Amino acid sequence: MKNSSEPPALEHVVCAVCSADDYDVVYPAQYDREKDADLADKFRASGDELLIDQLVRCRRCSFQYVNPRLPSEAILSGYTEGDDPMYVSQLEARERTFAASLEEIEKAAGQKGRLLDIGTAAGAFVAAARDRGWQAEGCEPNKWLAGWGADHYGITIRQGSLFDQPYEPRSFDVITLWDVIEHTPDPAAVLDHCRVLLKPGGVLVVNYPDIGSWIARVLGRRWLFLTSVHLYYFDRRTIRMLLEKTGYSVATVRPHIQRLELDYILFRGATLSRALSAAGRAMVKPFGLGRAQVPYWLGQTFVLARRASMVLLAGATSW
Ligand SMILES: [Zn+2]
Repeated sequence: MKNSSEPPALEHVVCAVCSADDYDVVYPAQYDREKDADLADKFRASGDELLIDQLVRCRRCSFQYVNPRLPSEAILSGYTEGDDPMYVSQLEARERTFAASLEEIEKAAGQKGRLLDIGTAAGAFVAAARDRGWQAEGCEPNKWLAGWGADHYGITIRQGSLFDQPYEPRSFDVITLWDVIEHTPDPAAVLDHCRVLLKPGGVLVVNYPDIGSWIARVLGRRWLFLTSVHLYYFDRRTIRMLLEKTGYSVATVRPHIQRLELDYILFRGATLSRALSAAGRAMVKPFGLGRAQVPYWLGQTFVLARRASMVLLAGATSW
């Protein structure tokens, strides 16, 4: 390791879906590719470092996850510090994606009530929901993003971990997790806590990159979502298993098309091919197309689930 401060020792973790500790290695670690980057840099919202850690697949349930990995406290402290102007630069495009998703959520929820967006970053989704009449607020570990979003949109964003917030049980109609679940050290605990905060029959929305999608299969090791910030790699089967285990019934699973500016997509595309990325950016620049909003899909998947009214749960802590 080249970091000036001593990096924390890696932690061995069991399968987050079925708790087994029995796996095959999918991709071995490539620690020799480690760049000089501190934790805050690694875990920023737009973090795009290639996955260099070991990826494993559970032999019992087929869930794929990073193991071993940095300890949870190191991951959360990485998210808490650092700034992320690159993420903020893409807000307009994100707002458009969110407006379309809200229509679908409103149909499922039936009425516009209280909404909580977890890992809200700069709060673009909270602002979009508020503008459509929701009583919306967010929660975000990163101090810089939380402060920037609260100022920019005039919304409530509580800074810190979800588990440290004073939310009342059964107080939200909708809880959303946009591109968040794959980053959290303990996704079962997050979903469990969301169930407690949701009203009975409340709606949970989760968006995640699907490693079982055809595009992820075609790209293999070069799939753009295989980055150091993603600890967990769900597919349709494993996300359903975890949701059902934590007290939800799944209503919708579908591809989720997001919008970003063309220049940003080409910039991120350097993970796939540096030469193509540079050539693409040079090509669109003279035409002023860099800021054009384009839909893109690389396996992102939208899941809408409901808090189950009454089921017997193995492992659920409270209702
Ligand atoms: Zn498993």
